[in-house]
Amino acid sequence: MPAPKTYKHIFVAGIVQGVGFRPFVFALAEKHHLQGWVRNSSAGVDIEIQGTSQDITLFLDEFPQSLPPLARIDHIQITDGTPIQQTDFQIIESQNIPGRFIPISPDIATCPNCISELLNPKDRRFRYPFINCTNCGPRFSIIQNIPYDRPNTTMHIFPMCQDCTDEYLDPNNRRFHAQPVACSECGPHVDFIMHHEVTATGDEAIGQARKLIMQGRILALKGLGGYQLVCDAHNPDAILAMRKKKNRDEKAFAVMAPSIPLIRQYCLINKYEEAILDSPQKPILILDQLPDNGLPNGLAPGLKTLGVMLPYTPLHILLSEPAPDFSDLLVMTSGNFSNEPIIYHDQIALQRLNPVCDGFLIHNRPVHIRMDDSVGRLERSHFYPIRRARGYAPNPILLAENVPQVFSAGPMLKNTFCFTRDQYAFISHHIGDLDNWEAWQSYREAIEHYQKLFCLDPQIVACDCHPDYPSTRFAQDFSKDRKLPLISVQHHHAHLASILAEHQLPKDEKIIAITLDGTGYGTDGAIWGGEILLGNGFGCHRLMHLDYAPLPGGDSSIHNPDRLALAYLWAAEIDWEPTLPAVAHCSPLAKELLISQLRSGLNILHTSSMGRLFDAVAAALGIRLTAGYEGQPAILLEAIADSQESSSYDLPVNENLWEWKPLFRAIIADLQSGTHPSTIAARFQNTLIETMYQSTRNLCKQHGIHKVGLSGGVWQNHTLLQKIIPALESDNIKVLTHQQVPPNDGGISLGQAWIAACMASGKQSE
Ligand code: ZN
Ligand code: ZN
Ligand code: FE
Repeated sequence: MPAPKTYKHIFVAGIVQGVGFRPFVFALAEKHHLQGWVRNSSAGVDIEIQGTSQDITLFLDEFPQSLPPLARIDHIQITDGTPIQQTDFQIIESQNIPGRFIPISPDIATCPNCISELLNPKDRRFRYPFINCTNCGPRFSIIQNIPYDRPNTTMHIFPMCQDCTDEYLDPNNRRFHAQPVACSECGPHVDFIMHHEVTATGDEAIGQARKLIMQGRILALKGLGGYQLVCDAHNPDAILAMRKKKNRDEKAFAVMAPSIPLIRQYCLINKYEEAILDSPQKPILILDQLPDNGLPNGLAPGLKTLGVMLPYTPLHILLSEPAPDFSDLLVMTSGNFSNEPIIYHDQIALQRLNPVCDGFLIHNRPVHIRMDDSVGRLERSHFYPIRRARGYAPNPILLAENVPQVFSAGPMLKNTFCFTRDQYAFISHHIGDLDNWEAWQSYREAIEHYQKLFCLDPQIVACDCHPDYPSTRFAQDFSKDRKLPLISVQHHHAHLASILAEHQLPKDEKIIAITLDGTGYGTDGAIWGGEILLGNGFGCHRLMHLDYAPLPGGDSSIHNPDRLALAYLWAAEIDWEPTLPAVAHCSPLAKELLISQLRSGLNILHTSSMGRLFDAVAAALGIRLTAGYEGQPAILLEAIADSQESSSYDLPVNENLWEWKPLFRAIIADLQSGTHPSTIAARFQNTLIETMYQSTRNLCKQHGIHKVGLSGGVWQNHTLLQKIIPALESDNIKVLTHQQVPPNDGGISLGQAWIAACMASGKQSE
């Protein structure tokens, strides 16, 4: 007498397609002698199983524990099923429900199985630079439309050969339904181009590219999400040449090393950092350099850190392969000019990058959507994103609850945009600075693309309250064209809400947030950026802020740290002594103009920005006086600060104001008495940590709050972050930091979307 049968239906939502989910279910069902089927739907995966109750229990127990590496289950629903006639388990045809959507996997670094095949002379894909499987390879960067099937990817131009087809159709093969599957018979190939001519192809092309690099020259490489520029990281002349040609004066270059032991020769690295570097995302991770590691100063001028990554595509693995006569460290930077987005069209690359590089290593698999490398660092034991792109986008952020469909347009700099649907926030990959025309084009294209891929039809639009942001104007047009309500959100409220959203706090739970950044339009028309806020998704109050300082020429002062310092000196009533570095650096004419500007108040904005205070202090100390990249003075100040120094200054608190002027006077007095800038820089940071801590804990007590969020670009300062967290925690305050979106403006669109979703759902209960 056979045991009675049980029937179950399982519905799974999340990242469950294009990640080897159905073969996984198939194998598990076979293992436990179950009958039934599995199929993709437009909303997720449906599974019907039949077997003894013991087998079903075993199946369900094992299910969540042995998921394919790239799968992510956001929702699972198990209901009673119906009897099945069939006697085996099958993978059946997909079912499409119009209008439903499923998340799409980001591009994933080459997996260990594919790496060992790549390097195995007996494998048919030995040294094939486009090897991939269901667990790895390109995804988001090649998808043109949904459903995610090969004809809807840029791989449609490569018909599969018989061997690849067999693998693709075999549920027991690890390439079952791997859409980008290919081999040297049927797939894309690489070419080496020099002086407009293909001089080698395949392995020989890679060999020529390596030779070029070792000659101290510059290679343009077609990577995963666009072109990269590559040179030998040990060659100072090559680095210098790259900087000149790329029009990138001092911003640090990222490097690629073939393995973690090699990274260890140059940088300090702990087990958490190892895990992040070697994760399926393989981001650029910012590490502390070992002192005297012998690397050229030109890699990361003035910094003690270095952005490092491991090879994440087979082509990168082959290009950087260790050899006695080859460099163990390659500069690997975006193929672009200063602030433009990464170039990804072949024709444009061949034209525009030609004067920059000495040779091209290209391939014929088109990139559909440009994608930068992701960047971050370790914070406690988790990844702290600074730029969220390859490997992470377009993975949605899971929200605390289902929300209406919102489109939020994001900020101007480091732009991302965001769409919400159901319980998901689809925050875009890093788009860039919208004052750049190329980035602006890319922004509009990406918005179209996301709407199509995730079947989005937003009902509410959100934007920054800065009237002149291109994204604000885009949101205004978007809402007007579609007759949708437009909600404008204060910049730092959005920073606070980005913390709420990613930590899935309930809609009306209030937190205190220390929002420190460069610039954000305040509700009083001033430029904010150094505040403590109290709020939730519905609204917020400003509890504390830096006293206003004059900002000559508004945002342009970012590019003139010397003039900024002079304005702060003037406001703090400190004489412009010629011995002060900023005073000495400024031309007499510039000083004359500035003083009349400051006296008349003409073209002077007022700011509570912490980023600007950092810039002004850095310039006043002579750490950085001329235009570099945004935030450079602040970054250099952190880098030179003496970590052994423990004393601090006083930052007086006057009601809800931090009085920075007495602090500034103390700093200048210290400088004039001969104290070294590295000591002063450390004391300045110590002062901020102590004052922020004291003010925050007092406000938490006063308002009965136990959770504090840290958001805004200044929180990329690791010293501040590392010291304030344990201080607040010692008072039983839970500190919420970013883990999924950047603390800088890259996270703003998520906050805007969450606020709009809260507001649309009605007033809070109070
Ligand atoms: Zn693989
Ligand atoms: Zn093939
Ligand atoms: Fe900001």
